[in-house]
Amino acid sequence: MSLLVIGSVAFDAIETPFGKTDKIIGGAATYISLASSYFTDNINLCAVVGGDFPKENIKLLQEHGVDTEGLQVKEDEKTFFWSGKYHNDMNSRDTLVTELNVLGDFDPIIPEAYQNCEYLMLGNLSPQVQKTVIERLEKRPKLIALDTMNFWMDIAMDDLKEVLGMIDVLIINDEEARQLSKEYSLVKAAQKIMEMGPKYLVIKKGEHGALLFNEKQVYFCPALPLEEVFDPTGAGDTFAGGFIGYLAATDGLSFENFKRAVIYGSAMASFCVEKFGTEKLVGLEIPAIEKRVQEFIDLSQVELTLKS
Ligand code: AMP
Repeated sequence: MSLLVIGSVAFDAIETPFGKTDKIIGGAATYISLASSYFTDNINLCAVVGGDFPKENIKLLQEHGVDTEGLQVKEDEKTFFWSGKYHNDMNSRDTLVTELNVLGDFDPIIPEAYQNCEYLMLGNLSPQVQKTVIERLEKRPKLIALDTMNFWMDIAMDDLKEVLGMIDVLIINDEEARQLSKEYSLVKAAQKIMEMGPKYLVIKKGEHGALLFNEKQVYFCPALPLEEVFDPTGAGDTFAGGFIGYLAATDGLSFENFKRAVIYGSAMASFCVEKFGTEKLVGLEIPAIEKRVQEFIDLSQVELTLKS
């Protein structure tokens, strides 16, 4: 099934307790595209970069089977830049810089060949642009998933609420779920958020796993306890890429299949954090992914007989 990916393609500068990078390649759509490329080969990217974005990185995406016809290159402008610093727990971070640059007036142009996509992943981007993309598709995709962050909640909450009414799945972290719902309990937060539109909600909790909600059903997927976590940047986007890539590849929209997609998303995210930036997402082998998925299954399986 074809998958359309929208989101930032960026330069990131990251600081963690283990080191610091200069500008490296990042962005929500980059992580999503790379992660989903291990599941489906019909990935279409719609994004924008400046003339300063290295051509070899566009080539890298193409080598992963990503169609870049919808990637606009604004030769005279600068690529979106984000910088963040992680706290010692590696679960929380401060955004140091957000320079929208080309993202500031991004007008998403959907190539004709991208129309009729069955799965749409609206990666982190202004809710206004996310909405425009949905409106520009001649046919509503089978499934629309959206990721966002506190930055957009702070400056564009009304637009975000509007787009939430148009989607099927929302993928956010626990802090964002609390900010969006104004509820501390994640169960109450989930109910409130699903009333805003999405039928499915994934709440990521970093090293504490992820929750999947649909109506009254809940599923919890743990995170794999890893010996080394170098850089959590992009883990959320990588989760989204593995999640939607698995759904697009298997084309099943049952709650059971969503649970499997959460496991695949979590497995991909566990690779992402083991190296800086996108490094670990390049050149992964399918058997390594399957082995990791098995580790997730083993982690929560238990034989137990109840007394009654
Ligand atoms: P994550 O760690 O999954 O939340 O995603 C980190 C990625 O999101 C980085 O590669 C950034 O380039 C990108 N990013 C950070 N802030 C924004 C924003 N306001 N809009 C779009 N992308 C962003």
